[in-house]
This record gives sequence, C-alpha cells and structure tokens, in this order.
Amino acid sequence: MKAIQLLEPKNFQHIEIDDPGSPGPGHALVRTHRMGICGTDISGYLGKMPFFSYPRIPGHELGVEVLEVGDGVTNVAAGDRCSVEPYMNCGECYPCRKGQGNCCEKLNVIGVMIDGGLCERFLIRAEKLHASTKLSMEQLALVETLAIGCHANDRGNPGPGDHALIIGAGPIGLATLEFARLTGASITVMDMNPERLEFCKNNYNIDHTIQFKGDGSEMEQVLAATNGDKFAVVTDATGSHHSMANALTYVAHTGSLVYVGITTQEVSFRHTILHKPEITLKASRNALPADFGRIIGLIEEGTIDTDPWITHRTRFEDVVGEFEKLTKPETGVIKAIIEVAN
Ligand SMILES: [Zn+2]
Ligand SMILES: [Zn+2]
Repeated sequence: MKAIQLLEPKNFQHIEIDDPGSPGPGHALVRTHRMGICGTDISGYLGKMPFFSYPRIPGHELGVEVLEVGDGVTNVAAGDRCSVEPYMNCGECYPCRKGQGNCCEKLNVIGVMIDGGLCERFLIRAEKLHASTKLSMEQLALVETLAIGCHANDRGNPGPGDHALIIGAGPIGLATLEFARLTGASITVMDMNPERLEFCKNNYNIDHTIQFKGDGSEMEQVLAATNGDKFAVVTDATGSHHSMANALTYVAHTGSLVYVGITTQEVSFRHTILHKPEITLKASRNALPADFGRIIGLIEEGTIDTDPWITHRTRFEDVVGEFEKLTKPETGVIKAIIEVAN
C-alpha cells in the first residue's frame, strides 16, 4: 500500500508499506481521504521542529473514513466520516490521570513522533475518532488545526469586554481568533504582514489590527486599542522567540500571556517585565478531546465558516513536487489540503 515518507529533512519519498491488517480490540481501520498540511509538517520538512523524528510518514490533520472496527468499539462504525485526534497518550501519567492527555508525559502525536496518515489506510485507537454526518472530508481535516486555537483561547480565557491580542495571523493565530471572537472580548490582531491583517479584517469582525514594524510604534497603538490598559490576554502564535519575549510588554497588569507557537530558541526577558505587572505566563499544547466534538458542532451549525481557510489543494501524487511551494507564506497559503483518496 502506498505512503509518503519524510526520510530526512527536505527529502520526501513515495514508499510501499505493509497493509495494516484488521483492527484489534478498541481500534479501527480507517482510510485517509484528506490531510491538512500545517506548520508542524513544514517545520519537520525544514528540520526545525523539535518534536519531529525521522524517517516519518507525516499527517496529523486528517479526514478519514472508518472501514472496520475491532471488538468493543461503540463510538464509531464502518462508513463513518471522522476527524482524528492525533494525540496518542499513555492514560497513566499525572496529566493523563487529570484528563489532560494533550500534554501526556509520553505523548506520541501521529505524523510527528510516530507515523501518521499520509498513506492509504492505517489503524488507530477508535476513541481518537470524532465522527460527523454533515462535515466534508476537508472540513474534518481542518478540525485539528482549529482545536489548537480552541485550546489556546481556553488557556487565556478572555471574558466579554476584555481586551485580547493575538500576535501572528498564520493558521494558529487565525484558529485562536475563531474562538476568541466567540467570547465577546474586544480583539486586536498584530502581524508584520499587512495582507494577513487585511484578511483578518475582511473575514472576521475584529476591533483593531496593528502592523508590527519593530520600530517601537506598536506601543502607541496597543495603548490606543485598550484605553491605555494594555491587553488582559495576549496569545503569541508566531513561534518567534523575539516576539514571544516582546509580547510581555503588551500585557496589562494582572493579565495573561499564552505561548501557542513553538520555538527551539531561548526566550529571554528581564524578570521585572513579568513580575511587576504580575503576569500569568502559560503554554498551550495540542487540544483536549472535548474540543473536537465542540468544533464539529460549531462547523455543523455554521458558527465557524471553513470557506476562507482552505486556499490550496494538491493530490497525493503531486504533493512531493509541490510541497516546497506550499511552505512559502508569499504564495498566500493559509491551509493546503492533500487529496489522498477521492
Ligand atoms: Zn497541525
Ligand atoms: Zn500520559
């Protein structure tokens, strides 16, 4: 059966792998229909993702069809269309016992630390499948990206009327925006790229945008957007250690800063910038199981419109040749989807 493997950074290859066989107890055999390409895949391709190992079959943003289920599986049945929660947690460690398997000590994310869905069929724990009768395979492949933003927004938890800032209007920042706008917070988006800010203005009812120029002119706009208070909640979705350190300066006294972007660099700042305003600093990793069901519901009822999200499509046969192009933000790509099966 066909698969695509990242042998090492910058080197994809088509490979033949063994058929996965029939599902054991609690497992399901699924067919991959659609796979979203995300920042993790791009960083893995470039050799810049700290959690990625090689060789690896990528694919953690998936729309799949259940082909067969093993004994004891009741949440899905053959023929169901599902989104995949790609976080394979141990179920026993401290965060798992608390119900936070997104941050399991022994976490394996499929397509990152273990092989993922860029193949014809694979086996998966059935509890990790979230079915919908209404969503298209493309929409199902988008659910995991949205879940990252759902969790990041919940970590910062802005309330109605709070001033919230999202730094970085790439896919993770946009996903955070989808949920921040449902809280009633007053939302500002900051990015270096004016086209991305324009996209946010056109597609979401946000209150302010700030173009980051790095010349210090941002602070005046931060104060203007918040009546001088600065932001109760700041979410940094850039993955830039410069931005992540600088983001502290935009947080209101007693406010929170959430790091949802990832960097391999050290983030350093003068301690008083954190201490004097008593800032709560949090990381946000992956998403919780309940987020998947919530997001499927929000798309089904039309609260989240997935139309602006999918900007590029490519076929399984073409992805190796086209991947490099899809890693370039200047191509206007927000989310590229691989059509693995028809
Ligand atoms: Zn992803
Ligand atoms: Zn665990």
